[in-house]
Amino acid sequence: MSDSPSTDTDPGSRNAELTWDSDGQPHSSVFDDCYFSRANGLEETRYVFLQNNQLAERFAALPAHGEFVVAETGFGTGLNFLACWQLWQQTAPSDARLHFVTVEKYPLRREDLRRALALWPELQSLSNALLDQYPAITNPAFHRLTFDQGRITLTLIIDDACSGFEQLLESDHPAHQRPRRAVDTWFLDGFAPAKNPDMWRDELFQLIHKLSHTGTTAATFTAAGIVKRGLRDNGFLVRKTPGFGHKRDMIVAQLQQPFITPASTEFPVSHRNAPWVAPWYCGAAAPTQQQALIIGAGLAGCHTARALAERGWQVTVVERHPQPASEGSGNPQGILYAKLSHRPETLSDFNLLALQFAQRHYAPFWATGADSGAACGVLQLAHSDKSAVLQQHLQDYFGEQELFRPLTAAEASKRAGVTLDCGGLLFPDSGWLSPAAICRQLLQHDNIRCRYDTAVESLQWQADLQQWQVNTGRDPLYAANVILTTAQDSRRFAPTHGLPLKPIRGQITLLRADASTAQLQVALCGDGYIAPARDAQHCLGATYDPRDLELTVRQEDHYKNLQLLSSQVPALSGALLEENVISGRSGLRCTSPDYLPLVGPVADESLLRKEFELLAKNARASIATAGSYLPGLYINVGHGSRGLAYTPICAELLAAEMHGEPSPLPRSLRLALHPARFAIRDLIRGK
Ligand SMILES: Cc1cc2nc3c(=O)[nH]c(=O)nc-3n(C[C@H](O)[C@H](O)[C@H](O)COP(=O)(O)OP(=O)(O)OC[C@H]3O[C@@H](n4cnc5c(N)ncnc54)[C@H](O)[C@@H]3O)c2cc1C
Repeated sequence: MSDSPSTDTDPGSRNAELTWDSDGQPHSSVFDDCYFSRANGLEETRYVFLQNNQLAERFAALPAHGEFVVAETGFGTGLNFLACWQLWQQTAPSDARLHFVTVEKYPLRREDLRRALALWPELQSLSNALLDQYPAITNPAFHRLTFDQGRITLTLIIDDACSGFEQLLESDHPAHQRPRRAVDTWFLDGFAPAKNPDMWRDELFQLIHKLSHTGTTAATFTAAGIVKRGLRDNGFLVRKTPGFGHKRDMIVAQLQQPFITPASTEFPVSHRNAPWVAPWYCGAAAPTQQQALIIGAGLAGCHTARALAERGWQVTVVERHPQPASEGSGNPQGILYAKLSHRPETLSDFNLLALQFAQRHYAPFWATGADSGAACGVLQLAHSDKSAVLQQHLQDYFGEQELFRPLTAAEASKRAGVTLDCGGLLFPDSGWLSPAAICRQLLQHDNIRCRYDTAVESLQWQADLQQWQVNTGRDPLYAANVILTTAQDSRRFAPTHGLPLKPIRGQITLLRADASTAQLQVALCGDGYIAPARDAQHCLGATYDPRDLELTVRQEDHYKNLQLLSSQVPALSGALLEENVISGRSGLRCTSPDYLPLVGPVADESLLRKEFELLAKNARASIATAGSYLPGLYINVGHGSRGLAYTPICAELLAAEMHGEPSPLPRSLRLALHPARFAIRDLIRGK
């Protein structure tokens, strides 16, 4: 963070390459610049970013349940974030929430971060919390970390500053380039313009303009002309003020002229190719009341209820069974796993992000004891030539990282506590969970009420009341916002009848532990899975029957589960006997045609089809209007075989969207999960 002459700025490496000077201060080899002031980096942060943005006063003036958004260029060592968090703890109301969104192109490795942060003993407890949650794979993606029981969210975007911030806009269509929640304060950090000209370009200042509101402030350590001009040309009133330490000047700025988004009517409808995707995914109105009725108390419903309750919403959960987690989420043990690919594919990108978020999210549940599950590690077995090759590709593709590591057969046997004929990939921070225990704990919140034994029969929008009438066979319930977390049964409701949800039957087997299986220390996954014993029982899974909806537990399915595992872990075959089967359970997985969940607002499908009918002629046709969405109706379903990994991030996404805060996912993934994607795909395919 200093203004000195330019050098080579082509790093070509994913992680930051550091050298350490004789005072133990980190220095970027790529940018040939230091990360913070040698005089006193923490004092400089406090002066430049906190004091000059008047954050102590602004935090203290927030109302109860107030929210504040800081955005930063260049996360670096996280020093600005930690100093801001510390100030927040000292000054903001106890129920206010801070969103810190930061973009970093070259993230530090965890060990480098640890060493850099050790320079600030007074931030030690916050640094440790950050280090605990720091992403295991710092891949180019959004990483959402939460601290202080959700009071602080850190969205660490590993990307180039412009492409990272651009993903915060609702759309790339010029008529819809708005953030869901504008930034209140900018920390314009990162290496100096002379060292890092790629970042400080016009496009960055234009994005800052679009992402800000009247009164948004910005501060930066530099007084470079390019920064002054960039801010001034984009609506900010800019002034110089004395810099920190030996620096003469720095810049502070305040937005006076907000960005005016052009009206959709300025973009004539045309069958010709447009440079943008039609903004069918924009248009859902922001909720006006912080109250929601959630139908379905499985993993999706309980996570969504909790995510909203923590944001201060009043939530009612309606479930047809006498207790939560009675259907798909009712297995005694489930494995936290994900499906990764060695290619940049949407499904794999989502899985990687979901798994990392879930591992962080479940850590406190695991800490409460074995009723919730155990972070025992998950070993994905290389049980066939095909899986061994795939695992090698994954290692090559992801390179150096902490999410998984390869084990030979001998290493895997030692780690697992049982003899294994093959090695595999160990996910050390994953494990098994009891979905029912998780659901019960999630629902324990003052803002959540549950109504069990209540089956919802239909939904009707009452325009005069501006509420949904939720018919239950008894007295109807009313709510301005309704969220369907009813898995495949969502098709029973008229507004979501057309969604392509597919049920897939599966059966698990509960097996008595014996001396050999009781040694198991890790969850083993191949084509089937087995978790370490819980209450002297193992959960083995699971069959996969797409064309079968019959839920009776079958002996032949137990046999299939036992056989599958015996073939992959022969050392356990002496215990994998039908006489050791205690019982079983069958259920339905709800999947979608692209195996991604459906999360977001529910479209008014007939109107949406009319508005975007031109797409049937040309998928790139120029349409500028937003889509039509049913007021206050949302859905969160389609978690397939990976509900434990998918539901935490999907609940976070939906709650962030409904609450109007920066999204935990980039726009590209928000679109990939959008419930209206199938209606639009059908239109394009002429269906
Ligand atoms: C055999 C099997 C093994 C599995 N193993 C794993 C695993 O190891 N790891 C993993 O991550 N995932 C696993 N899964 C998948 C995981 O269980 C699901 O993805 C997850 O449970 C989906 O949660 P959900 O909340 O979307 O659905 P559900 O848990 O099915 O919840 C839907 C809820 O809605 C309620 N409901 C529906 N209609 C109405 C209505 N009209 N009125 C009121 N309430 C209603 C239902 O009663 C139900 O409680 C497995 C699934 C199966 C079947």
